[in-house]
Amino acid sequence: MDETVNPTAKPPAGKIEVNAPGGSHVISRRGAIAAGVASLFSGASTAFAQKARSKAAKPAKGGQAAVEFDGARAYEHLKAICEIGPRPSGSAGMDRQQQVLAEHFSRLKAKVLFQTFDSPHPQTREPVSMNNLIISWRPQAKDRVLLACHYDTRPLPDRDPNPKVARGGVFVGANDGASGVAFFMELGRHMSSFEPRFGVDFVLFDGEELVFHPSDPYFLGAEHFSRAYRDEPPAHRYLYGALLDMIADRQLNILYEVNSLEYARDIVHSIWNKARKLGVKEFIHRRGHEVRDDHLPLNEIAGIPTCDIIDFDYEHWHTAQDVPANCSAASLGKVGKVILGWLQDLPDEPATRVRK
Ligand code: ZN
Repeated sequence: MDETVNPTAKPPAGKIEVNAPGGSHVISRRGAIAAGVASLFSGASTAFAQKARSKAAKPAKGGQAAVEFDGARAYEHLKAICEIGPRPSGSAGMDRQQQVLAEHFSRLKAKVLFQTFDSPHPQTREPVSMNNLIISWRPQAKDRVLLACHYDTRPLPDRDPNPKVARGGVFVGANDGASGVAFFMELGRHMSSFEPRFGVDFVLFDGEELVFHPSDPYFLGAEHFSRAYRDEPPAHRYLYGALLDMIADRQLNILYEVNSLEYARDIVHSIWNKARKLGVKEFIHRRGHEVRDDHLPLNEIAGIPTCDIIDFDYEHWHTAQDVPANCSAASLGKVGKVILGWLQDLPDEPATRVRK
C-alpha cells in the first residue's frame, strides 16, 4: 500500500449546543456547518412536535404503507451523493455529504444528531474528526429499532486491477457507501406515513473504512457508538437492528450473513421471511459469506442483536468501477420493499439478547 496518500486530517471540532426534542444535545461540528445544522435543528424540533400531535389521528391502515419505496428516487440520491466525489472520514466531501443529509432529514422532520469523536489517522496519527449521524423517528419512544449503514468511503480503490489506479485512483463508493445513504434518504420519505410499533433510528456510521493497509482498524464509528451505548446507557434501548451495506448491485443476491445467524438469527429470519412473503427472490434463504462489518461491534460491544444485509459478491468492490452505472434502481427498490414491509410488521424482541 502506498503510504504517501493522506486525506486531510481535521483539527478537533468546536462544540455548540442545540435544542432538540427531549433536551439539549451537544453537537460538535466545525464552524459554518455547525451553525447551519443548529438552525436546521431548531426548525426540526418545532416541526417534529407538530408531527407527533398529528400522528395520533393518522394510524397505519392494515399495515400497508401509503406509498411504495421508490427505487428510482433512491438511485437519484445515490448519483447525487457520488457527484460530491470521494467521502472518506475527515474529508471535504464528507463535510458536504453531512450538510446534504442534515438538510434532507431535517426537511423530513426527523430529529438529526451528530455524534462526534476524534480518531487517529492510521498513517499520520493526527486526530480525524468523525461524526456518526443519528436520525430519529418518534424520538420519544423508549423501545427502538436501529437501522444502520456506513457513509464514509474507502480512501482508495485499492483492489482495482490496475495497480496505478489502486494506488492513486478515485473511489466514489456508489455501492460501498452511497447505496446505504441513498436507501435511507428514500426510506425517510415514508417514515411518517405509518407508525412502526417501536421507535426507529437510522444510524450512519463514520470511520467504517479509513483503511490504507489491511491491518488498519475498521468500524471506528460503530465501535464508538457501541461503547457510548454500553458505558453511558441512554434513556431508550435498542431491541435489535439491521445493517445495510452494498445493496445496489445490479445482480442482487442477498444471502444469510454467517455472523448474523450467530448473533441475530431471529432478526435474519423475520426479514428474509418478509421478503419471501413479498415475492422478493433476491433475498436467498441460504448461508453466504461471513462478513466482518459494522454489525460486529453492535452485537459484541453494545449487545444489540443486529444482522447484516449485504450482497458481498460485487465484482467492482473497492475498485474505481464502483460507480452509479454499476448500481441498480431496481435492486434498491427491492431492498426498500422488504425493509418498508418489515418496519410495518416488526417482530418481538428476540428471547435471548447478546450480552458480553
Ligand atoms: Zn468497503
